[in-house]
Amino acid sequence: MGLRKFIGGASPPANRESKRDNPLRFNDNASMAKRARFSLGGVTVPAGASRQIRMKISERYTGDPISLPVHVVRAKRSGPTVFVSAAVHGDELNGMGVIHDLIFGEPIELTHGTLILVPVVNIFGLEVQSRYMPDRRDLNRSFPGSSKGSLTSRVARAFFDEIISKCDYGIDLHTAAGGWTNFPNVRGDLTNRSVRRIAKAFGCELMVNGKGPDGSLRREAVRAGCPTIILEAGEPLKIEPGVLAIGLRGVRNVLRELGMMAGKVEVPAYQLRVDKSVWVRAEVGGILRFHVAPGTFVEEGMAVATNAGIFGETQNQLLAPADGIVLGMTTLPTVKPGEPVCHLALPTRSLRSLRKALKDGKPNTLYHQVRKDLATNVSVSEQEIDATVHGGGEA
Ligand SMILES: [Zn+2]
Repeated sequence: MGLRKFIGGASPPANRESKRDNPLRFNDNASMAKRARFSLGGVTVPAGASRQIRMKISERYTGDPISLPVHVVRAKRSGPTVFVSAAVHGDELNGMGVIHDLIFGEPIELTHGTLILVPVVNIFGLEVQSRYMPDRRDLNRSFPGSSKGSLTSRVARAFFDEIISKCDYGIDLHTAAGGWTNFPNVRGDLTNRSVRRIAKAFGCELMVNGKGPDGSLRREAVRAGCPTIILEAGEPLKIEPGVLAIGLRGVRNVLRELGMMAGKVEVPAYQLRVDKSVWVRAEVGGILRFHVAPGTFVEEGMAVATNAGIFGETQNQLLAPADGIVLGMTTLPTVKPGEPVCHLALPTRSLRSLRKALKDGKPNTLYHQVRKDLATNVSVSEQEIDATVHGGGEA
């Protein structure tokens, strides 16, 4: 059963739990026949083949077509259809790098189902290094869109009808917005069993619970019956090696979990569901010196940054209001009163137990690599970074 029935019809039921967890579902003849005829943008992709498709989504002033590049991989055997999309915000490039590695890196041996890879959704924004669409709308607040609506709304609708409506699961790859970086974390409605399943399988240490804003791709995809998560990792306008490795492992993990690829899901040393977070904000204008990096464990009362005046004198220290893990932080040293400096995920387990899990687990080189690769343009005390791993150095 696809999602076509929802398109243009009455609103789909909210939070519908997917019944797609049972792989047997794909073995019935009707489903196999339907999936054997897979086509996208008017191009048919036979089972066992892959195609690069240019799917028309809009037009230039000249009337020439603007096309969405889509790479489709189909296994010989039936199974779930999964999309991986990137750059719905046109300046968020890490996900595009992940998709390139999926296509050109170690080959994906897809045993079951169909994988749809969309390296850039907001082509308009990509061209001008912008998060937004040319009509200044945010594409990720415009789903499911309308074929009679604004430029952005029509692009959203085309993507929804041609891609999401054909899919059983989705992964949408994001980075932080300008001037900010995120420790790699997945986000989704963890009260939905199928969303929770792929969020956990992806394998990030932090899983942030939430449906997402109205009109966001993940919220509207889930509403339409396609369980979808997002990855939030790193900075915009960059392709960061550690984030690529995390994204690649995550997509492969989800494909393994869904029985589309052979192999076991690789699990991290610790994994936390995040239901609460707090922001640390600047109290006075000044220049920051940081004492934490993305992923650092911070104890309540620990200084996350020192705010200096323009002649370098210390004005105040910004303290963690609770035990937390740095989910995101600014990459700009300059702040005005009220501007966010750090976003802390509040852990549901003690930091001591998390440190122990990191120490006792297999040497997790990827965890350390991603921590080294993030926020490289920010000056941070090494001692505080080491505190995460070694449990010392608390201020
Ligand atoms: Zn984004």
